[in-house]
Amino acid sequence: MDYLPLFHNLKGQRVLVIGGGEVALRKVRLVREAGALITIVAKHFCSDLLEMDADDKQRGHCNLELILAAYQQQQITEHSGAVLVIAATNDRELNRRVSKQAQDAQMLVNVVDDPDFSTVIFPSIVDRSPIQIAISSGAHAPVLARLLRTQLESLLPAGLSKLAALAGKFRERVKTKFAQGADRKAFWEEVFNGSIAEQVYSNNLERAERLLTEKLDSGSQFKTGEVYLVGGGPGDPDLLTFKALRLMQQADIVLYDRLVSKQVLNLVRRDATRIYVGKTAGDHPVTQDNINQKLVDYALEGNRVVRLKGGDPFIFGRGGEELETLAEHNIPFQVVPGITAASGCASYAGIPLTHRDHAQSVRFIAGHQRSGKLDLNWPELIQPNQTLVFYMGLNGLETICQQLKDHGLSAATPAALVEKGTSDRQKVLVGDLDSLPEIVRTSGAKAPTLIIVGGVVSLQHKLAWFNQDTTSD
Ligand code: SAH
Repeated sequence: MDYLPLFHNLKGQRVLVIGGGEVALRKVRLVREAGALITIVAKHFCSDLLEMDADDKQRGHCNLELILAAYQQQQITEHSGAVLVIAATNDRELNRRVSKQAQDAQMLVNVVDDPDFSTVIFPSIVDRSPIQIAISSGAHAPVLARLLRTQLESLLPAGLSKLAALAGKFRERVKTKFAQGADRKAFWEEVFNGSIAEQVYSNNLERAERLLTEKLDSGSQFKTGEVYLVGGGPGDPDLLTFKALRLMQQADIVLYDRLVSKQVLNLVRRDATRIYVGKTAGDHPVTQDNINQKLVDYALEGNRVVRLKGGDPFIFGRGGEELETLAEHNIPFQVVPGITAASGCASYAGIPLTHRDHAQSVRFIAGHQRSGKLDLNWPELIQPNQTLVFYMGLNGLETICQQLKDHGLSAATPAALVEKGTSDRQKVLVGDLDSLPEIVRTSGAKAPTLIIVGGVVSLQHKLAWFNQDTTSD
């Protein structure tokens, strides 16, 4: 081990910084956040440091002391009580002199970007205080350390700080309740992995605290079920949200639809029970009432149930109906939006849904026929400067194109059909209201498909970027 990571409590401690430029500023910001009292010695101070100082003074704080002077050893001697010296001037030799003199005075010293002359180095920090992660490459590969930091940032929920604070508040009570370390550990693991943590992440802090109290009072057996209605997006697993992934990784049971792609389903926790409740057109193996009831039953048994849907659960997804039943049974739930087919298919096909020159509004329309008929408000749909997106419109494609023409849209209005959008089998068929039905018939397109009508479709040939090597259309 090249370095021992330690977390330094700087509250009320003096830190001496030599240098007053941008580099010094970055370090000053950090140690200031950690509550240090800071003395800065420099021949010149950058405007941000001067502002910081003025701000502090205005608020009656005196955490900063700016000394306008050239560095001399005497400053080290005078500040021998400082717990850390940071050399951050743009003069390498001067920085090294500071380092040597600080070390002679038995002080910890950091020389910015000069690890050989530093006794301590600054890590890359992921800050969800009180949770903190410090990453260091021991000065071998700082860029790599920063890259790791970015990856960790995206993995950790933003609400982690609040969760840790809540745990801190209950720590003593949990200790009193469970004498055995193993019991305490099991208790906390359930809290951090389950619905209580999720309530914190949803910013329902009072509810989380109440649940935690109940859990504590009833012992570690107490388990609350919960339902997560999760949008799985249109197919490409990279389009999942962080939150969707996190909840999928926690699920005990997953109820999923036909539209959820295999790759997305593969990201569900491996031990979770997977239940297919999909529907194929005209064939309803599991009725909606039955699904609603299953969600309630599984949650009441204490399970974390993920209801995984294609696209966004609130767009033609019957998500609202499922939640109503849960609400009637007082079962806690969360909704995680997903990328709806319109956004996903349009982006991956290179068709912007709005565009200054073509459309200022966009409509999402359910295009499925009921007993061979499509009952839509056609006069509204032919308004100029809008893009129409038809979901579930494959069977009704001919009727859709015909009705739009009959109600006044030009036969030459560009129209596209996107098949299996965002997947590696995506196909984009482009024509106009006259030609699209025939193009689609010839290609033998299969569901799921999305129809996009409007001037924006004319941009597709310029903006197509995805799956270009496999589609000839
Ligand atoms: N909740 C979903 C929509 C469910 S309705 C969402 O927000 O996307 C089902 C319809 O969505 C399908 O008939 C089809 O029109 C469309 N759809 C879903 N995924 C699609 C995909 N990958 N490619 C094309 N259309 C898709």
